[in-house]
Amino acid sequence: MPFWNSVYNLSMKWIFPNNCICCKADLDNGILCNPCINELDTTGGKDRVSDIFFPEYIDEAYACWWFNDTLQDVIHHLKYADRARVGKSLGYMAGKQFLDTSISSLDMLTAIPLHKKKKRERGYNQALWIGKGISEAIDVPIDASIIHRQKYTVSQTTLDREERLQNMENAFVTSRPLNGLKIGIIDDVLTTGATMSACAKKLKQNSAEVVVAITLATPKIQIEKTS
Ligand SMILES: [Zn+2]
Repeated sequence: MPFWNSVYNLSMKWIFPNNCICCKADLDNGILCNPCINELDTTGGKDRVSDIFFPEYIDEAYACWWFNDTLQDVIHHLKYADRARVGKSLGYMAGKQFLDTSISSLDMLTAIPLHKKKKRERGYNQALWIGKGISEAIDVPIDASIIHRQKYTVSQTTLDREERLQNMENAFVTSRPLNGLKIGIIDDVLTTGATMSACAKKLKQNSAEVVVAITLATPKIQIEKTS
């Protein structure tokens, strides 16, 4: 009955309005309207491991979008009440763009873990929600239990490169052997790669064969390689 269907749809919209998280336009489904989606600047799904400052132990690194104002706004919503749905939707959108990359042939995904204390303070791990969306889009399972954070890491700004790596490396523990698995680690943003690299080292020490970093966003600055 089309009439009752439209009455139902209108009532549902009134009771549960759905709006674009950026411009607040009415939406039937999803979290972003098409004009806002068009504002997102995709990186083209290229491996960027050579662009990061700490590439050690990372085989490939992918970020879906370049940072811009719209993306900044979108990522900001990962902190609000609707964050689980936003994280999962963004992960799903990113995952669909990774279908033609080596990510879709991974054996397993996991998320950069938060320390228990930080998780208690914050109440959630946004990397895991993003990971769930990516997992659904590319049909690769996600298991957040394979790696944990055992140390509450202090600010790393005063440490040099080696000290930073050492400090991060001791922060993670793995929970079981990962015999020859190809694993993708999910985080929201890819910057220096220090955390990713430390996680990747632990996974490889526990027999993971390949480790790929997967994120939503990365800054559009090429690190100048001076000769
Ligand atoms: Zn919009």
